[in-house]
Amino acid sequence: MARVSPSKLWPCASWKKIDMGGKSVVPWDAIYAALEKWRVSLGENPQAEVSGDGGGQLREPSVTTVAEHYRRNPWAVLASTILSLRTKDEVTLETSKRLLEKAPGPQELSALSEETIARLIYPAGFYRTKAASLKKIAAILLEQYGGEVPASMDALLALPGVGRKTANLVLIEAFDLPGICVDVHVRRISNRAGWLRSKTPEETEMILREILPRKYWKGINALLVLYGQNLCRPVSPYCSRCVIQAWCEKNGVTKTR
Ligand code: SF4
Repeated sequence: MARVSPSKLWPCASWKKIDMGGKSVVPWDAIYAALEKWRVSLGENPQAEVSGDGGGQLREPSVTTVAEHYRRNPWAVLASTILSLRTKDEVTLETSKRLLEKAPGPQELSALSEETIARLIYPAGFYRTKAASLKKIAAILLEQYGGEVPASMDALLALPGVGRKTANLVLIEAFDLPGICVDVHVRRISNRAGWLRSKTPEETEMILREILPRKYWKGINALLVLYGQNLCRPVSPYCSRCVIQAWCEKNGVTKTR
């Protein structure tokens, strides 16, 4: 009897295809297209709240807004990305503007005291620690990189207070380089949906680098953050309004709206 190609098993009980090596394959084109269509349906205003229950978030992540406002200036992107960690989008926007007005580059920032930087970026989360990191980063950039932000993952990771999420976001937003920025939303939705299984953002990033087509690397974060903030919420997601539920296993979801 002729062997049936595993790829022909689509559609089957599961929405995942099986490739020739026996691995499941996520239909990324369909998922990405559905998310993009949803985002477009929100309209033009990138700053509006979309969930309709008052608990949703901005349509565009704050770092993207800052990156566009400062014409993808790498220092502005790096500083606002650091401020955005454990900070609400509105606060990131407000504190980034305040900081960048006084310190449009590492030179100007290094002239400020740590106390002044902390005051400028308050109430961003961990503002004192971030003020100290920014001061050290500015000194390193001036000493080692001629005042420029390096466009390299390793060099960025060597800066104080810079982890993979920050480094990826800087590479993507400031330098238009491929990267996958993983935060709580990307990890939660990917695991919930059953696209992958991971315990940490780092593990999620490494798996996505293997399974996600490169053309979607840059955009997946903004889409899933927006989706996670507004529809695929941590508690009681809006599954009834979900545009990707056809490709979601709802792992661990006990209550939905
Ligand atoms: S179906 Fe529900 S759990 Fe799955 S992605 Fe959509 S909102 Fe999230």
